[in-house]
Amino acid sequence: MGETDRLLEVIRGRNSKTVGLQFPVGLRTKAVELAQEIEAKADVTCLVSADPSFGACDVADMPVDLIVHLGHAPMPHLRYNRVFFFDLPGPPLGSMAFLDAAEPMLPKRVGLLTTTQFRGWLPAIQAHLEKKGHVIRIGEPDRRVAYAGQLLGCDYHTATVVEGDVDGYLYIGTGDFHPLGVAILIDKPVIIADPERGTARDLKEVRDRVLRQRHAAIVRAQDARVFGIIVSKKIGQARMEMATDLKALAEKHGRQANLFLMDLVAPELLQGYRVDAWVNTACPRIAIEDILQYKQPILTPQEFEIVLGERTWNDYVFDEIRV
Ligand code: SF4
Repeated sequence: MGETDRLLEVIRGRNSKTVGLQFPVGLRTKAVELAQEIEAKADVTCLVSADPSFGACDVADMPVDLIVHLGHAPMPHLRYNRVFFFDLPGPPLGSMAFLDAAEPMLPKRVGLLTTTQFRGWLPAIQAHLEKKGHVIRIGEPDRRVAYAGQLLGCDYHTATVVEGDVDGYLYIGTGDFHPLGVAILIDKPVIIADPERGTARDLKEVRDRVLRQRHAAIVRAQDARVFGIIVSKKIGQARMEMATDLKALAEKHGRQANLFLMDLVAPELLQGYRVDAWVNTACPRIAIEDILQYKQPILTPQEFEIVLGERTWNDYVFDEIRV
């Protein structure tokens, strides 16, 4: 059975008349074609969510019988309502050139990490590296990640759970986004093997640059008088308790802090408020990836603790959403 047939079976099985489709930006090119196909074959009306979708933390609230969320694995701890996660098949594993490029940089004991897209490759990669004498560990998933070895930009459990058994990590994937947090959280080398470019690289330089940027943001926020603490409305990003705790902490230190509730966190939506610095409790990566787009410093919760003197820079940790 093809992947779309499987999806059609689910739609028919649930007796849906209206179906919402939510695509990550990278899969938008498939939206019109898929909506047309589903409407023709399942006799339903499709509604494509045109808001950006960043992950399984971010499922659209749509007035439909069934929401089909594409391209992400569900977060096991969340209770989704009327949502079917449609996991597109990953590409087949072809040449191992990217792996052979990474192999000389690897220590003996290696933790294997990847995203959902390449997770089907891990057994073959493990076997390939074991033949070359490496000891491979693949961390089991937990409440927020669905698959062994899977990384999220906000959850590094599959890396930390094997930390004591490995001397470094190999990440299979195309960018820095997912493994960056591992490189900052854990003082061990993180090597990226990029299957699209067929190349490999060490993440150390990127890690050092990001840490310098974070240090500068903390220093800039030291003199802030009014802090805006951002709280997300998204199902997998809402950390209201943390936000209210941070507000209380700020007030304990004689700083003013106010809570700002948002769905999409974007610099243009925060303009006009008399706030000197932002503290972001929504997706942990907003403060890291988008910092240059914000006029005021934007901090993670742990960086805010450093500003308040509750934590030192030596105890810096990368923000994760842990439940
Ligand atoms: S919270 Fe951010 S990093 Fe985590 S899954 Fe959602 S979008 Fe990705």
